[in-house]
Amino acid sequence: AKLEGRNNYQFYSCATHAESPVRLTMESQLYHALERNEMFLVYQPRVDVKSGRIVAVEVLLRWNNKDLGFVPPISFIPVAEDTGLILPIGDWVMHEACRQCRLWTDAGLTLKVAVNLSARQFKNKNLLRATVSAINAYGIDPGLFELEITESILMNHTESSVATLRQLSDMGVGIAIDDFGTGYSSLAYLKRFPVHALKIDRSFINEITQEAEDLAIVRAISSLARSLHLKVIAEGVETEAQLQFLQYPECDEYQGYLFSKPTTAEKISDMLSSGIVI
Ligand code: C2E
Ligand code: CA
Ligand code: CA
Ligand code: CA
Repeated sequence: AKLEGRNNYQFYSCATHAESPVRLTMESQLYHALERNEMFLVYQPRVDVKSGRIVAVEVLLRWNNKDLGFVPPISFIPVAEDTGLILPIGDWVMHEACRQCRLWTDAGLTLKVAVNLSARQFKNKNLLRATVSAINAYGIDPGLFELEITESILMNHTESSVATLRQLSDMGVGIAIDDFGTGYSSLAYLKRFPVHALKIDRSFINEITQEAEDLAIVRAISSLARSLHLKVIAEGVETEAQLQFLQYPECDEYQGYLFSKPTTAEKISDMLSSGIVI
């Protein structure tokens, strides 16, 4: 379906799974999820490897539905994509993230918020307007806002989506490539796109302590990033041993269950103001 106009989203069913009753329920429930206040955000700390301090949070969407219960994002995000609902939902996520960032700033806590961008949002011609509107609505420093875009999504760029990234980057918005190393993107993109950070996919971190190849890959990504002046963030760090292995490849930040699972804004504030360091 073609999208026309900001407040006039068109919806269609995904042909392949349209018959599945769960899928149909999910679709019809998803349509009302925002107005029924069923969506909320959780935040996962990104920790500076050297200082052990929280410097950013990844914003992660949650959906708790009266009929379906808690639906994980890997299940409902594709449905939101297919139906086009990801556009109003994505706008809501950006607004909510900026609102929370403002609250943290007002409380004297400097924290960057990193929001995930879906394929549909990336391709949408209103991406610039939607992002700027969220940032301006709460008057936050654009430097405290980051977009996470996967390699595969970046691959399907258009002239206008690249131009949008450049405009956002010029404003100070950060652009991170998510799940780095799992897609098929050409390294030339790192030169062509205004990218500020690489998030190494957690599949490389998972067995970094046993698999020499994984360590080699993480090291290669880190040194590439360093020479291109990009920040490197390791995802899915679950153990102290994995963290030890990330000291030598010199990752800048890490994120994972070792430090904290995604949690509420209140818990993040508590962690920050108590200045806990592991
Ligand atoms: P992602 O962007 O790669 O997000 C990281 C996922 O890894 C999150 O899952 C997080 O909870 C999980 N994770 C973090 N640390 C660890 C760890 O140490 N071990 C393990 N095993 N997992 C860890 P989550 O929240 O279920 O989100 C899954 C995916 O859903 C995200 O993957 C992202 O692609 C998508 N998603 C979540 N929120 C949004 C959103 O607001 N917009 C869009 N477009 N996509 C979203
Ligand atoms: Ca992400
Ligand atoms: Ca990721
Ligand atoms: Ca992922």
